[in-house]
Amino acid sequence: MNTAPLDFMEEGDGKMAGYCHVCGTELVGKPLDDEGIVPFCTKCNQYRFPLYNVAVSMIVVNRKNGKILLIKQYGKPDYILVAGYVNRTENLESAVRREVKEETGMIVSSIRFNRTRFFEPSNSLMCNFTAFVDDDSGFDPNWEIDESKWFSPEEARKNIKPNSLALYFLSSYLDETDAEQEE
Ligand SMILES: [Zn+2]
Repeated sequence: MNTAPLDFMEEGDGKMAGYCHVCGTELVGKPLDDEGIVPFCTKCNQYRFPLYNVAVSMIVVNRKNGKILLIKQYGKPDYILVAGYVNRTENLESAVRREVKEETGMIVSSIRFNRTRFFEPSNSLMCNFTAFVDDDSGFDPNWEIDESKWFSPEEARKNIKPNSLALYFLSSYLDETDAEQEE
């Protein structure tokens, strides 16, 4: 079998590809078509790509007045963005529309891609979008949301959870929006 050692397969943080999540055998590197060297379990005879979750988070903007929706969840004190996990086979756009509808009752009229960042504590790739709603007429937060409030962009920046991924996404979006308006 054509296998290669894994020491050149280090990820950004230096972590190794590790062990098969099905049988526990140490993985080896094996070439796969155009993918290059990929972790492979010789016992299962299967390639084992890294496992992680994919989630979407949304800066929900009311087109009518430019306000941004922040929420509090699970008894926590800080305002965050609406977010949720992406289902297997679901595309990100559908996940954005579904999560906003489920959590807030509102219909998203358009979506704009913002940023992505890997979030180690939940082993998730967080994909952030701006989700525009035409107005807040359908606004009806579900049981997952303890508290919610519409903020002006600068109020949102001040009130969102400090040192959080949500703040990073919101700041990136607001900075770009400001830059576009100055052009
Ligand atoms: Zn295996």
